[in-house]
Amino acid sequence: MGVARSAPALVVIVVVPLVVALGLAVALAVSRRGQRQSAVAAARAQAAVEAERDDAVEARVQLERALDAIPQAVLITDPAGQVVVRNRVAETFAAARHSDALVEAAIEELLAEALEGRVGHRTIDLFGPPRRTLVIVTNPLPDGALAVVDDISERRRLEATRRDFVANISHELKTPVGAMGLLAETLMAEDDPAVSRRLAERLVNEAFRLDRTIEDLLVLSRIEGEEDPLHQPVPVALVLAAAVERIGPAAEQADIAIHVSAPDAAVAIHGDRPQLVSALYNLLDNAVKYSDAGAVVEVRATAVGDAVAIEVRDHGIGIPKGDLERVFERFYRVDQARSRATGGTGLGLAIVRHVATNHDGEVRVESRPGEGSTFTLVFPRASDEPASSAAARPPQSASSSSSSSSSRGPSGPEKAGIA
Ligand code: ADP
Repeated sequence: MGVARSAPALVVIVVVPLVVALGLAVALAVSRRGQRQSAVAAARAQAAVEAERDDAVEARVQLERALDAIPQAVLITDPAGQVVVRNRVAETFAAARHSDALVEAAIEELLAEALEGRVGHRTIDLFGPPRRTLVIVTNPLPDGALAVVDDISERRRLEATRRDFVANISHELKTPVGAMGLLAETLMAEDDPAVSRRLAERLVNEAFRLDRTIEDLLVLSRIEGEEDPLHQPVPVALVLAAAVERIGPAAEQADIAIHVSAPDAAVAIHGDRPQLVSALYNLLDNAVKYSDAGAVVEVRATAVGDAVAIEVRDHGIGIPKGDLERVFERFYRVDQARSRATGGTGLGLAIVRHVATNHDGEVRVESRPGEGSTFTLVFPRASDEPASSAAARPPQSASSSSSSSSSRGPSGPEKAGIA
């Protein structure tokens, strides 16, 4: 009985708390699992958000790098007009310089209009120096505005150069053609055979001048088109020999002696032989044209370290200091009359400069009026052998003199074409 009475009590005292405790433990475990699961889910969500944020940051960095790499200035604003993207070029306008501040002000004004939905376009000329022309284009964006600023100064300069060139060519061609027309008309009305002959000779001279100008223009355009000429080693001694041979008849006619000092046959330049011969021929042609009868012209090539210098020195009329920079321009002549009288086209030095540029070289000039000029072509040396050994070798010397004998006919000294 006692036992019978104590059994329910046992249930109450022992089992119920046990069941309750068990229930609590299960509930706790379930809730802990739930907590763990939700913590994992939260961490996953957090990671996803962070990954998204990283992706966005990466995308923005990439976009900024791309925008920094383009030559135009780019600015993007938010809907309130606050600039949120400004690339590297656009940074320069934020500088304090007066002209840049003008550009910045124009950009701000156009961006404000773009935020109101209007497309903008403005050209700004900055008088420098350097002189610059900028074009600002602005566009509305769904949530802001975009401005792109393009520096078109170089394009403008090229257009102006092309326009000048066309005008110069027209003038250069018009002059001999006009002269030929007049000479032909006069010739038609002339009865005296001696006068007719003189007129005919002048007519032929003008025709030759026209021909040389067109030939030089073709050479120039061919050289300009060949920015990367065949780069084979060309022995400098061969270039000298070919150019000196070509100038021979004109030098003889003008009673000019050409003294040559050529380097060892191993000294070479990487490049295009006809172009190199053409450049040197043009320098020799000028040296002969602008020297007096009986003078000497020296052509000397030397290897100095990794470079080769080809020097053409004359003792002729020289070039005034103020013209030295300009003589390499097309059709620039110090003395129009002398250039024309000697059959010059005004294109020889432009050809020389182009050939030098095409061969990663340069051309320099030193001159004194009344004393003479020295033009020097400098090219990188073809490195088939150690530069030091060849540089140490003294250049071989040769000398060729000419006397006045053979005649070149009415065309006079011929201007260079590519051999
Ligand atoms: P051109 O056909 O008139 O000689 P170039 O382009 O070869 O044209 O030379 C341009 C100008 O530079 C010449 O008209 C001349 O005034 C000047 N010049 C070039 N070389 C010499 C020189 N060796 N001595 C004096 N003047 C020179």
